[in-house]
Amino acid sequence: MTEHLVEEGMREWASPLYSEALSQFNRVAELIELDPNIAARMRVPQRAIIVTIPYRRDDGTEVKSLFGYRVQHVLTMGPTKGGIRYAPDVNLGEVAALAMLMTWKCAIVGLPFGGAKGGVRVDPTTLSRAETQRVTRRYTAEIVDFIGPTKDIPAPDMGTDEQVMAWIMDTYSQQVGHTEPAVVTGKPPALGGSVARREATGRGLVSLVPAAAAQRGLSTDGIRVAVQGFGNVGRYASLAAAQAGAKVVAISDISGGFYNGKGIDVMAAIDHMDRHRSLDGFAGGDRISNADLIGADCDILMPCATGGVITGANAGEVKAKIVMEGANGPTTLEADGILNAKGVLVVPDVLANAGGVTVSYFEWVQDVQKYLWTESEIVGRLREIMSRAYEDVQSLATKHKTDLRTAALIRGIKRVAEAKLARGVYP
Ligand code: GLU
Repeated sequence: MTEHLVEEGMREWASPLYSEALSQFNRVAELIELDPNIAARMRVPQRAIIVTIPYRRDDGTEVKSLFGYRVQHVLTMGPTKGGIRYAPDVNLGEVAALAMLMTWKCAIVGLPFGGAKGGVRVDPTTLSRAETQRVTRRYTAEIVDFIGPTKDIPAPDMGTDEQVMAWIMDTYSQQVGHTEPAVVTGKPPALGGSVARREATGRGLVSLVPAAAAQRGLSTDGIRVAVQGFGNVGRYASLAAAQAGAKVVAISDISGGFYNGKGIDVMAAIDHMDRHRSLDGFAGGDRISNADLIGADCDILMPCATGGVITGANAGEVKAKIVMEGANGPTTLEADGILNAKGVLVVPDVLANAGGVTVSYFEWVQDVQKYLWTESEIVGRLREIMSRAYEDVQSLATKHKTDLRTAALIRGIKRVAEAKLARGVYP
């Protein structure tokens, strides 16, 4: 009889992002001569669940079914942690890749979590608020045994927000019979959400600008920043950059972008977005496309929208001297090679956007311990963790004569390997 080993089952996870995550991992595993037994264990998630989610449309006549996923990559160091995305192309492989990235991200900044990710394959813009609520509650009910404050703690990601987290928290609490705020992070503050969680990813990203600029000999005063995406990450990155004295010269959302060499009025753009749910019709700059934004004349490019936007086809057009990844997986491996060869400093997602999960960790700690930290305590701790992680990754990069992504992964993978070795194989 043929044995069906995990190595033979790799096709379960087949997706472009998973192949990229795996190639990255394999390259670093080889570089650090990682124990092959440990490496084999880290290539695939420890747990994955696929559920179907029936929901009634608002007209009451039609019941539709959606696919939902939750993947827990490494359960070795504590509960798992990671967002839930609602997007039309979500699949098991993509969620697995994102869960793996969460493992490295948490380990790089030193949080006591393994990585997880969840998703529902749906275009959230096609759902009414009531439909979103029904989908969210049924998805939560389907995965209720797999999540919890000591098991796996979801958070927002693309297409989900504080309200979705509130419905997850409520559904979970109804099922377990008591109110449990610590089951999710990124909740509204009235339910135990942390102050400054909403802004955390953008702020964390921008907190690394001085260190990155110094590496390229640039002054931060008036440094020109182009931000792709105006969701939760992009809008607060733009705001934090402008408040820190940078000039935000370009912004964009799914409807396209705007360029203004004198600097975009970010507050006006946020106001427009809040009123129209889109940047379309914003009058604060010249119209450009999302493709133009990647090649925009600027010092720092911040892709804060979705995965795979800087590719082998357009990496050559990047004029920025620094790319800071607010999104998860925005640069393909091929593009990464091109950017590195051009001398562009790439601050990788697993380091650059770790501010979100870091403040999620603070939220979880506050919920579990019933602490109430102030905004300045949270922002101070966030800055400290982010800059320490950047410094450590930078010195590893110097030591290994490599780029920041490789150095960050060396740090993350080594930490997880150490934990796995210390626990051993059960039984
Ligand atoms: N979805 C965010 C990320 O990719 C945040 C995850 C969290 O806060 O747990 O990092």
